Amino acid sequence: MPNIPLVDLKANYARHKEGIDAAMKEVIDNTAFIQGPAVKQFEADFAAFSQVKYAVGVASGTAALHLAMVAAGIGPGDVVATPSHTFIATVEAISYTGATPRFIEIDPETGLMDPQELKKNIDGVKLVLPVHIHGRPVDLDAIGAICADAGIPLIEDAAQAQGSDYIKADGTKVRCGGYGLAACFSFYPGKNLGAFGDAGAVTTNDEAFAKKVAQLRDHGRTSKYVHEMLGFPERLDTLQAAVLKVKLTTLDADNERRREIAKLYSEKLAGVGDLRTPPETPNLISNYHHYVLRTGQRDALEAFLKENGVGVVIHYPVPVHLQPSYADLGYKKGDMPITEAYADSIVSLPIFPELTNEQVDTVVAAVKKYFEQV
Ligand SMILES: *Cc1c(COP(=O)(O)O)cnc(C)c1O
Repeated sequence: MPNIPLVDLKANYARHKEGIDAAMKEVIDNTAFIQGPAVKQFEADFAAFSQVKYAVGVASGTAALHLAMVAAGIGPGDVVATPSHTFIATVEAISYTGATPRFIEIDPETGLMDPQELKKNIDGVKLVLPVHIHGRPVDLDAIGAICADAGIPLIEDAAQAQGSDYIKADGTKVRCGGYGLAACFSFYPGKNLGAFGDAGAVTTNDEAFAKKVAQLRDHGRTSKYVHEMLGFPERLDTLQAAVLKVKLTTLDADNERRREIAKLYSEKLAGVGDLRTPPETPNLISNYHHYVLRTGQRDALEAFLKENGVGVVIHYPVPVHLQPSYADLGYKKGDMPITEAYADSIVSLPIFPELTNEQVDTVVAAVKKYFEQV
């Protein structure tokens, strides 16, 4: 029986072992654990990669979202528009500031925040926080125009979108990270750019905003023992920065390989059962953090693939508006029908740069076998 994991972090480490081991050893030899030189070096490299002026390393993707919203002045009484089809951290970060989430329905094909729905629900919103879910960028021009009309900022949850590209209406290509006021990235180990623990970054083209986030992540410091504002212990760990700096060097190529794998899956699975492969969106160029299939037989397909050694996962089975931790918002099943139908139909296949074409064929064969026996 095959054993194909959803992601293979060991295969990834094997590729980078020499560089990572040396980079970590240098940090340890210098005992430069907090705000060591590797942090600034990685920040410069990641800003260049993301085509923005500033990247501020922080402790996690959740911290990136939280600090960016605090820096944007979001607080108690404010309303932040965001999707319910996301990882819980997007919404938790809103709650940490004291603000309230307003959930916006998604496009039924892409799973991304629907600009028309945002427009209908924009009254009273103080900030829009769309999510580039599964690595596919939201329609930034459409959402950006609504924000501009309302006179409110846009912050991207780019936790899954390192190196995803957006083609604007005028044909210019922009990378996720610099479109709005800021973007928030996660370097959780399984993300396309993954650390050896928790890590994240806020990117922006606004110098004052970058300075504020940098201060907030480090106890509000202006100098070692002068604290201008209340901050947080949310710095990017130097050891993580050293790891990330090495792995960033192959990220564009790694994302390209993921796109190649996605193309193979979509070609080989076209017309199989009732499967719907990810939609073609020529202006929204995914880094394929997830490869998401949709089917009316999701639960049975998921169980069959797991029994047959294919590491599939549901990203994400319970939308945030139906999470027990958000019961106090008063949502019930049926309140967000498009989001709920989407969550009930999705399953993610294994995808990572080291996945071989033979492994792709094994996954495809298992999916086909399921539809042959039903
Ligand atoms: C991973 C993720 C986060 C949180 O990042 P952490 O580094 O785990 O804190 C936030 N939003 C989305 C969409 C994510 O996928």
